[in-house]
Order: sequence, then structure tokens, then C-alpha cells
Amino acid sequence: MHELSLSHAIATVVRSHAGDRHVQIVRVRVGALRQVVPDSLVFCWSIVREHEAMPDAELELELVPAEVACRACGAQSEIESRFSVSCPQCNSADVAVVHGEEFLVTSLEVADAVERTAPEGVPHG
Ligand SMILES: [Zn+2]
Repeated sequence: MHELSLSHAIATVVRSHAGDRHVQIVRVRVGALRQVVPDSLVFCWSIVREHEAMPDAELELELVPAEVACRACGAQSEIESRFSVSCPQCNSADVAVVHGEEFLVTSLEVADAVERTAPEGVPHG
């Protein structure tokens, strides 16, 4: 399952930043094009965090809509569909994805501090 491997990747990033400190909240930015099902990711995280000895680390997801810049007409637009990446203004497929590919651990809350991560990318799962 895609979300399970992503959860393991999140745990690796969290552990490298938090060390042995008690992690309470993990904030993750997820682009719409990453095909992540939020409920499924939260569920997988609830399993992985037990194994990673951070049982109260809550996952907070920040969902980012997909946005493309069109090379044909110059428009920059949010797109609804995550399956067809094309310009909603002129239907050209000659677009650059501006937002939507993100999968980043953006910050952690540990027992006594807020730790800002670099934001660090997580490889495709
Ligand atoms: Zn266009």
C-alpha cells in the first residue's frame, strides 16, 4: 500500500529531526497530484507510529490543490482533476505543474518545542 510506505518515510524524517524527544504533532504537506488518500494515510500512520515508538504523534495534513502554468496561453490555474493534467483555460497539455507534487514534512511539535524542519521532501513511495 502506497500510504504505508509513505508513513514509513515520514517516520524516518521525523526520527532524524526529533531524535529521542517525545513527538506530539507531525505536519505534512500533501499535493493533490500525489494520489494520497488522506484517511488511508492517517490510518497507516496510526500503525507505523506504534512501531516507531512515537505512539501519540498525531498527523496533521495540509492538502495543497494542484496548480499548473500553461505554456500555450500563459494562464496559471488550479486544476480539479488529478488524472488529467491540462490547462482549464485552453485545454493544452503543455503545462508545468506549479503545485500538487508536494510531499513534505513541514514541522514537528515535540514535548517542549516546535521544531521546523527544512522542509524535507519524502521520496515517491
Ligand atoms: Zn492554457
